[in-house]
Amino acid sequence: MASTETPNLSDDVIKRDLLPEIYQWSLSNGLIMYPPNFKLESVSVAPTTLYPTPVPRRSFQDAIAVQKAYNELYCNVSRDGNENWLTNESSKLAEFDSEFTGRLWGLYQKASKQGYSQKLRLGVFRSDYLIDKRHDEIKQVEFNTISVSFGGLSSKVGQLHNFLNDSGKYSPDRGSEFYSNEIPVSESAIKLADALATAVEHYEPRQPNPVVAFVVQDGERNVFDQRIVEYNLLQSHGIQTVRFTLEQVKTHTFLEPDSRRLYWKKSGQEIAVIWFRSAYSPADFKTEESWENRLILETSYAIKAPDLLIQLSGTKKIQQLLTNPDILAQFVPDESSRSQLLSTFVNIYPLDDSSLGREGKRLAFEQPFNYVLKPQREGGGNNIYKNDIPDALRKMDEKDWAAYILMELIQPEPNKKNVVLRGSEYYKEPILSELGIFGCVLFDESEIHYNQYSGWLLRSKFNSSNEGGVAAGFGCVDSLVLY
Ligand code: ADP
Ligand code: MG
Repeated sequence: MASTETPNLSDDVIKRDLLPEIYQWSLSNGLIMYPPNFKLESVSVAPTTLYPTPVPRRSFQDAIAVQKAYNELYCNVSRDGNENWLTNESSKLAEFDSEFTGRLWGLYQKASKQGYSQKLRLGVFRSDYLIDKRHDEIKQVEFNTISVSFGGLSSKVGQLHNFLNDSGKYSPDRGSEFYSNEIPVSESAIKLADALATAVEHYEPRQPNPVVAFVVQDGERNVFDQRIVEYNLLQSHGIQTVRFTLEQVKTHTFLEPDSRRLYWKKSGQEIAVIWFRSAYSPADFKTEESWENRLILETSYAIKAPDLLIQLSGTKKIQQLLTNPDILAQFVPDESSRSQLLSTFVNIYPLDDSSLGREGKRLAFEQPFNYVLKPQREGGGNNIYKNDIPDALRKMDEKDWAAYILMELIQPEPNKKNVVLRGSEYYKEPILSELGIFGCVLFDESEIHYNQYSGWLLRSKFNSSNEGGVAAGFGCVDSLVLY
């Protein structure tokens, strides 16, 4: 069967046969999440699509092929080269967004005053794309430098769709495979663990058996996505993990004053690597102490994924500035990498007093329907779309507009055949799919020790909704069938 086709199963067959297969496979294999207000022992099936979504092989390969160049770009930006470009830009941004970027910037200044004893730094990244229908090209939505999620569940949903295809559930009349084309399985669950393990191997411990710490949100519902990576760390690398929230830093860990080595209090084990699955939005900092604790972690000898400068390199403002070819060239000397990167950008404008900024302001009012307005925030639900832009700007002081970027809308082709399953309901509504490519880079000032593509994620959302958060209730995890 041509892989752009989708099984045409009746509602009866979906309800009676397919849904039980999906629920039971998902519960057996951990394609799950906690529901709102959960108890530890009862879980929900993660929102998924019924079928894999067709994606052109070439787009998929293009997105994978550019990942190492992206890793290297953000490594170079985070090294603060080009006459402290990143710290200069971050200090300017701090003034416009004092509530969050400003606080991260303030924390970085304190940390650099104390000095960084650990020279190794780990980027665990995800670059997100939509495929633009006008030229059938991948275009970047955003580059995430902190708390990238769904590396664990992405591998599971590919396995689910393969199971349904291989076991004949997509062609119940014949019991044979529906798709003959490849339904790849993302290696992210393995590869993210590999990257964390590589960082541990480069860490020089005082004591044997150092651990990886996951800094997590209180009441995280997407915990199984993280757990899958933890189990792989133990299984493939023999590395144990510990988990704590920003509020628990002082009660659960111990910082040795002189060496600044960080230890897990309960067992005395040394913490080699800290992976932040929290600390990316103001809501993650519940009290003033959360900020102090973030500084303790930053100035510890553990390898941070990410440290504050890597985190600050991931703001929307930096993404906008890097679309300028002259700025890009400062960080990516290699011309072919540069043209690969440039081909994934759409136009992004500042809204300041520069000439590009004035152009941005004009477009925001004259053609808002072609743009999305973004503040310096992560995690979904913050953007302003299309015709809402002029009013939103009018409500602000013009000087505050500089905290935002104006981004050209990518125009993906909706898929009208796939079906979204959320809990007991399924929805036959057109969806849009966003492809995320994971990448990891371990580096210090002068050397890149590890630079890898680390798997992928496909997330789909209803075409009718602007945002696509899975945990936030807008979207679902998907997989792809290549054609
Ligand atoms: P966040 O940091 O909140 O995840 P994003 O920049 O990823 O912010 O935007 C959230 C969602 O908005 C994306 O997942 C995508 O669905 C939509 N979106 C963002 N930018 C664009 C764009 N340029 N064109 C089309 N859709 C976009
Ligand atoms: Mg996003």
